[in-house]
Amino acid sequence: MRLVLLGPPGAGKGTQAQVLSKDLNIPHISTGDMLREALRAASPLGLKAKGYMDQGALVPDDLVIELVRERLSKPDAAKGFILDGFPRTAEQGESLGKMLAGLSMPLDVTLYFKTSMLVIIRRLGGRRICSKCGKTYHMTNFRPKVDGVCDVCQGSLMQRPDDREEAIENRLVVYEKQTAPLIDYYKKKNLLEEISGDLEVDDLNIALEIIFKKRNLVGNRIQNAG
Ligand code: AMP
Repeated sequence: MRLVLLGPPGAGKGTQAQVLSKDLNIPHISTGDMLREALRAASPLGLKAKGYMDQGALVPDDLVIELVRERLSKPDAAKGFILDGFPRTAEQGESLGKMLAGLSMPLDVTLYFKTSMLVIIRRLGGRRICSKCGKTYHMTNFRPKVDGVCDVCQGSLMQRPDDREEAIENRLVVYEKQTAPLIDYYKKKNLLEEISGDLEVDDLNIALEIIFKKRNLVGNRIQNAG
C-alpha cells in the first residue's frame, strides 16, 4: 500500500505511521525524522536544515524533494510506503506525483488527519524526544520507564526546539498557508480520506480499517501483514 499522511503538527501522524508500518510491513518515511537524523549527524544537509527547523519554518523544497527521491528509490519502498510529513507544499506534491509516475507506483490514498487545536497544543507541549536515538515520548500519554531517560538507549530526553510555544505558532501558520492547500489537491484527484486526528491509536485503527475496506485496500493490509 502506498500512503501519504497529511495533517497539522501534533495530529498523531508519526504515531499512527509507526503502527501501520508494522501492520503492513512497509517502511515509514518521515522527512522530519530523516532531517533530525541529518542534524544529529551534523551532515551537510543537517547543517543546511537546522536554522529552518529550529524556527518551525519549512526546509527548502529542493533539499527535501531530493531526500525523498533517494529514499523512494531504495528496494524496500517497492513493496509500499507511508509518507509522513511529505509533501508539505504544492511543489512537493507535484514532484511526488511525477516521481511516482516515473516509478509506476501511484499513490493508493492520502489520509488527512483533521485535528482540533486543543489536541494539537496538548500533544506538542508534552512531547519529548531522545537526544540520542530520536524516539518520541509524551509526558502524560507515553512516559518513559525512568523520568527523562530513553527506554531504548538510555539517552536523555529533551523537548524539540520546534515544540516550544513560539515555534509551534509559526509551524501552524506555515501549515495553514503552505500545506493545507494539499487537502484540496488530493481531494480533486479522488485520493483523499479524512479521519479525526483527535482519536487515540486504537480508535483511529478502527476508522482506518473502514477506509481501507471502502477503497478495496484491505486485502493489501492482510496480505502484507506479518
Ligand atoms: P516534522 O517532524 O514532520 O514535524 O518536521 C519537523 C521539521 O522538519 C519541520 O518543521 C520542517 O522544518 C522540516 N520538514 C519536515 N518535513 C518537511 C518537508 N516535507 N518540507 C519542508 N520541511 C520539512
